[in-house]
Formats: sequence, C-alpha cells, structure tokens
Amino acid sequence: MSEKIAFIGVGNMGNPMAENLLKAGNKIKVFDVSKDMLAKAKKKNLETVDSIEDLINHEISIVVTMLPEGKHSKEIYLGDSGIINKVQKNCLLIDCSTIDIETSKEIGKAANDKGILMIDAPVSGGVMGAQKATLNIMVGGSKEAFDKALPFLKVMGKNIYHAGEIGSGNGAKICNNMSLGITMIAASESLMLAKRLNIDIKKVHEIMKNASGNSWPISVYPPLPGLIDGSPSNNNYKPGFSAGMMNKDLKLANECAKNVSADTPLGSMALDIYSKFCEEGNSSKDFSAISKVIGGNAWDYPIE
Ligand code: NAD
Repeated sequence: MSEKIAFIGVGNMGNPMAENLLKAGNKIKVFDVSKDMLAKAKKKNLETVDSIEDLINHEISIVVTMLPEGKHSKEIYLGDSGIINKVQKNCLLIDCSTIDIETSKEIGKAANDKGILMIDAPVSGGVMGAQKATLNIMVGGSKEAFDKALPFLKVMGKNIYHAGEIGSGNGAKICNNMSLGITMIAASESLMLAKRLNIDIKKVHEIMKNASGNSWPISVYPPLPGLIDGSPSNNNYKPGFSAGMMNKDLKLANECAKNVSADTPLGSMALDIYSKFCEEGNSSKDFSAISKVIGGNAWDYPIE
C-alpha cells in the first residue's frame, strides 16, 4: 500500500488515524488549522503543511477529512478554494467527520457531478479505537466508491459497514450516538444510585458489566473514576470524546427525528441534559463528565 494521501483535521481522532495510514506504508501529508495539532502530528513523524494549497496537488490520490462539524466539511470541500475543484477525477474523497446528512449529500452530489468518487465514513470507537485501529466505520456512497476505499478503511478500523447511499454513514452514526448519549446518562444514573445506596461502586460496576444492565459506557468507558484504566473519568475527564461533540450529535439526531416525524423522547431529554451541561462551560470536558450533574450533585461540581 503506497498511495499519496492528504489528511485534513488531525485532532483527537484524526491524529492516530493518519498515523495508522502512515504506518501502513502510505505517503501522507497532513493539515490542520491548529498549530498545536500540527506540532503533535510532527511528533508522530507525520509530514505537516501550513495550508490546503500546499496539501492538495494533482498527485494526491486520496483525501481523508476528520473535522468537527458539517460547516467545516462544507468549507473544505465546497468553499472558495474547495478540494472538489482542486483534485483530479481519479482522486477518492473520504469524509470521516460526523456531520448532518444533508451536508453530506450536498458534498457527495458536488463530487459526483465532477465525476469524483466520495464516501461519508463516520466512525465509532473513540480515541482508543482510533489508536488501536479497531474503529467501526459506517460508509455511505456507491459500491464502487466503497470498494475502492475499503483497503484504506481497514487500516483505520476493524468493522467496516456499507450502510447505503451517500449520507447513510452519517445516518447510521447519528442513530448510534443518540443511543450512546442516552446510555451514558443511564450508566451515570445507575452508578449514582448505587453510591446513594452505599453499595461499593466497584462491585456494582463488576455486576453490571456481566448482567443485563451492561452497555458500552459501563463496560468500556465508565463515567466514574477508578473503574477502568485509561478511561477519561480516570484522567479528570480530559477528552476522549467531548461533551460539545456529544451535544452536536444529539442535536443532529433530534433534527433528523423531526424531519422524518420519528418520536425520540429519550433522545430529546439527553439533548436537554447535554445542552445545559455545555452552556455551563463544560463543552471541552469528556462527555462522560455528565455524571457530575446526574442524580442531584452527588459529586463535586463544577469540575476543576
Ligand atoms: P477534534 O476537535 O479533536 O479534531 C478536529 C480537528 O479539526 C481539530 O484539530 C481542528 O483544529 C481541525 N479543524 C477544524 N476546522 C478545520 C479546517 N477548516 N481545516 C483544517 N482543520 C480544521 O475532534 P475529534 O474528537 O477528533 O472529532 C472529529 C470528528 O470525529 C467529529 O465529527 C466527531 O464527532 C467525530 N468522532 C469523534 C470521536 C471521539 O471519540 N473524539 C469518536 C467518533 C467520532
């Protein structure tokens, strides 16, 4: 595997994903608007550039983006100096960002109109999954684009799914993350109740991991410290996956639900809880820090 890849957005997720593409033997150059992120990338031996102009040229055969929101993907692909107007027709575009379905379709159509293959390929599995290349990747796009992208997606992830046409990857991801937001609150409620009942949290955690109350937040990413090494709750809630990102995903889920008249009352409650948490200045904390406000101030709040 030795393709010339341009990678844009080397934050918490993009950095290890780009590193895995490099380790697989590709020639990769990365760009980020944050100088700090570029410095971090350099430390991983990734070649960095200072502008999109320095990144995109006719030799690039794959562009991967890992950006925060739809507006960033739109700017990068469709803006004044948008990628779609710069790459060759045989270049494959892979947007791994979690964004709204409409923007994903709009970018995909613009690429398609120019004869360029594009997929939306949002991921789940967190920073640990990105580092270990065990991400679940949900792809929307044509079969031809999926097949072309597959070897590269396999370098970054373990389970790769073709969900349907362009935008379906983000549709699947939004459904997944609505569940994740709800279950993180549910795990926090249960562990808080155990604490109030004066039952050893470690015991309850062990029981829940093996019983019917298990969930990803319980088994992999518990919202309370002292339960699983390496989880953000053990590191003063340094993200990981930020509360701001979860708030964004719950907004996307609620907008989608409205658009198709789906009733999602728990998704709507989860959005209210995360929105308030973010308004109180906690957007940059890990999303598992929501446990701090669940169950009537059972823990120290605000977070230091
Ligand atoms: P992040 O904020 O750490 O990284 C995003 C990077 O994009 C930042 O470094 C930022 O400077 C850069 N960026 C923003 N605008 C840019 C532009 N115009 N040009 C170049 N770079 C730009 O976010 P993250 O946690 O890595 O998440 C990225 C995406 O992945 C989001 O859509 C998120 O919802 C999704 N996601 C995150 C996780 C996770 O655990 N963090 C898990 C699954 C999916």
